[in-house]
Amino acid sequence: MKRNALRTFDHFPGDKKCVVCGTNEDDKCVLVMIDGTADGSIAKAEPVHLGCAVATNYKIEMGLLYRLIQGDVGTVDNQPYVESFHS
Ligand SMILES: [Zn+2]
Repeated sequence: MKRNALRTFDHFPGDKKCVVCGTNEDDKCVLVMIDGTADGSIAKAEPVHLGCAVATNYKIEMGLLYRLIQGDVGTVDNQPYVESFHS
């Protein structure tokens, strides 16, 4: 698989909230495409802090890297658990 060039932005848009951490703290961000919104080469996207966009989980059988956005993922006895939920 070809590695994509990552386009980052130096500032988080003040009128948006990161879908992962729920804040609009100013930091570097990336745009993530919203599934099902692609129209030709245009799609809707939401900003996500660069640090929030890093995958924390790997589902080996599906080749899927992902991050739970309901809360922070930690481990207890090497089993993943969700610490908290954003409302
Ligand atoms: Zn964030």
